[in-house]
Amino acid sequence: MSNAKTALVTGSTSGIGLGIAEALAAKGMNIVLNGLESADEVQELCTRLEGISGGKVIYSSANLMDPAAVRGMLDAAASAFGGVDILVNNAGMQFVSPVEDFPDDKWEAIMSLNLSAAFYTAKGVVPHMKQQQWGRIVNIASAHGLVASPFKSAYVAAKHGLLGLTKTLALELAEQGVTVNAICPGYVWTPLVEKQIPATAEARGMTEEQVINEVMLAAQPNKKFATIEQIAALAVYLCSDDATGITGASLPVDGGWTAH
Ligand code: NAD
Repeated sequence: MSNAKTALVTGSTSGIGLGIAEALAAKGMNIVLNGLESADEVQELCTRLEGISGGKVIYSSANLMDPAAVRGMLDAAASAFGGVDILVNNAGMQFVSPVEDFPDDKWEAIMSLNLSAAFYTAKGVVPHMKQQQWGRIVNIASAHGLVASPFKSAYVAAKHGLLGLTKTLALELAEQGVTVNAICPGYVWTPLVEKQIPATAEARGMTEEQVINEVMLAAQPNKKFATIEQIAALAVYLCSDDATGITGASLPVDGGWTAH
């Protein structure tokens, strides 16, 4: 077994999670990748990350809406690496609709993936972190964990809940060498954002161009999308020993959005 630290990043086959996995790999860590793709589809990605890291990369296609699948993913990580030292709860989904039309199954799915999955993963990795008196949990929340927007009832509720979970775990683990923090990105150009543009245009009666400029970038005083690299760099910092004194924090990367 390698002496390198092991990082599990949920939802790491795309977007922000992939960027974080790449940045942690560049620090020489073993990586547990996760997403909904088949193992064959991510084989090349695993090989590329192993090249970056010099460590080992394994992949779990666990659907995080299933607590048994989460436990299976953590068992696989424990057999490969002895345990998870760094947990990044990143997987998430969005759905945009007025509340009266919001499908019940979408509400349940968003609560399950964006909030409950972080409880199940944390529950599974904390014993190892406490035992070794070192660990890092980074939850990828959102500016929507701090403020709301219309038509995103489930997402906003789940992300606010994720900040509550972050603070609670930070207090529980504060004397155990384990920090628990949340990153709250504003809009980042990823497949998740691209997919919500047509739905937001429909919900607000706007063109897609208007959604980008008058909804998304209008929320961000610097008028720029945040980048995957910016989020990944902050995640890497929070996982470092320099960040030992930061716990229970919710850190926006939103160009000033939540300063309003
Ligand atoms: P994305 O859609 O690009 O990637 C989502 C990842 O999650 C993929 O790897 C996908 O395979 C995985 N995934 C989806 N459902 C899953 C499931 N049931 N089980 C396991 N894995 C699953 O998304 P993104 O934009 O990179 O978002 C990542 C996180 O950042 C999310 O939590 C999102 O809420 C948050 N966030 C994104 C933005 C943004 O503007 N993109 C802003 C704020 C917060």
